[in-house]
Amino acid sequence: RDQGLGSWPERRLVISPDKPALWFEGTTSTYRELALDVRRTASALHDLGVRRGDRVAWLGANHPAALHLLYACGQLGAVWVPVNARLSPAEARYVLEHSGASVVVHGREHGTTADALADQLPGVAHWAAAEPPLEGGAASLDWPALVAAAEPVHRDEVVTHDDVCLIMYTSGTTGRPKGATLTHGNMTWACLNQVLGFDFTGDERTLGLAPLFHIGGLNGSVNPTLLRGGCVVLVRGFDPAGTLQVISEQRVTSFFAVATMMDAMSRQPGFGTLDLSALRTVAAAGAPLPLPLLRTWLDRGITVQQAYGMTETAPAGTVLDSADAVAKVGSAGKQQFFVDVKVVRPDGTECGPDEIGEVLLSGPNVMAGYWDAPEATASAVVDGWYRSGDAGSVDAEGYLYIRDRYKDMIISGGENVYPAEVESTMLELPEVQEVAVIGVPDAHWGEVGLAVVVPTPGTSPDPDAIRAALRERLAGFKVPKQVQFVTELPKTATGKIRKPDLRDTYSPRSD
Ligand code: ATP
Ligand code: MG
Repeated sequence: RDQGLGSWPERRLVISPDKPALWFEGTTSTYRELALDVRRTASALHDLGVRRGDRVAWLGANHPAALHLLYACGQLGAVWVPVNARLSPAEARYVLEHSGASVVVHGREHGTTADALADQLPGVAHWAAAEPPLEGGAASLDWPALVAAAEPVHRDEVVTHDDVCLIMYTSGTTGRPKGATLTHGNMTWACLNQVLGFDFTGDERTLGLAPLFHIGGLNGSVNPTLLRGGCVVLVRGFDPAGTLQVISEQRVTSFFAVATMMDAMSRQPGFGTLDLSALRTVAAAGAPLPLPLLRTWLDRGITVQQAYGMTETAPAGTVLDSADAVAKVGSAGKQQFFVDVKVVRPDGTECGPDEIGEVLLSGPNVMAGYWDAPEATASAVVDGWYRSGDAGSVDAEGYLYIRDRYKDMIISGGENVYPAEVESTMLELPEVQEVAVIGVPDAHWGEVGLAVVVPTPGTSPDPDAIRAALRERLAGFKVPKQVQFVTELPKTATGKIRKPDLRDTYSPRSD
């Protein structure tokens, strides 16, 4: 009867009840315990009046309650809405209002946000705190108490693959986040793709590192591992030294990360010395992966599988097979098992080998649409193909290389410059710790590159020397005309560099 994601813990309760499912801050739950937690959570939601189709928001950092709510919503046919924990109260209010959430469960950091928004959101009938709030939250219900008091009965609703499972807002890297509406079918097929693409096993110990409110954090490895019957080692958030320690001590076998996280970890003293021998593979996706960084991990003997995907495809798109990690370094691999990927010209015809075009994806994991945004949906999904807005090419052997987002591409004197390539080259310079290249208007060239650089501590680089070094490595039109130094780059919660913010700072224009 129940084909939804909410049935996964129930099925594991039959198949492997005593296996470890979820580790969090020193406590491990078995699949039996997970299933009972989910049942109680579903009953607690039901007691608060949540029914099929209702939206239930989670506002917080990574916490087991977030996953319990996702699966519980699945059992009720309700819709889980994870809200970016880093949003300001005004931004969170937009997401809660737009999604029409009727219940909001929040983490310990969001008591004051709950207080601030309670009066402004009449549609939210209940606020509840999953942990004692660090500040505020006086009006929030005690969620663990409600869950503990609820009956652990399995609600046998009819939930099909076509029912909506969650609304996940995109990272907001290029503008206001869009609410990708993902069905139970989208989730199932996306997770099956991930299981196959990363060879997740029943003995997996995957690190839940990236935020669960982003698709990489949720479906990069966490949900696929729970589908497969492995164990999720969940951490609240990213702290480079502490995360490495957990990877070592918990014998983590895999995790999903974006490039900036991998970069920060590789700079820790423990990176070279800690026992990381259990680590089988790192799934790297979400943003361009600079080659020097990739090599640092491969040189440490750790397999890195670059993948490519997005919220709208939950996120399965392409993945580099672990056997190709070295031979095809830099590629995002081939299409995942139940996904079709093609690269097309502006007229829609398919590009030839190595020709750059827009990447399109199709499969049972492509979202049902953007929540309450029919026009945006109609331009994003055309004839069943999701139009990524990303520039890429496929080599003669069928391997995909992602160049960059078209929105970030710089057109300088009629030549297309992909900032990701320039950034990757700049990171080979020892004095460059982090860099983002953006286009700024130029009277002569139309647009020129501006490199915003975080220098390596202890160095004081000279812009002309950087440009001279780049001229030896890159065609002249790709070398940024200007270099600016900063102490920090603006980033999203997943660690992606927010280029619109940089454009606002260095060349105000409407994106
Ligand atoms: P928004 O759509 O709100 O601007 P976003 O696109 O960053 O934010 P996500 O859905 O989290 O939101 O990210 C998907 C995007 O991340 C892809 O469209 C692509 O631009 C980028 N991306 C993902 N994987 C890779 C990769 N391996 N290499 C380069 N870019 C990648
Ligand atoms: Mg996007």
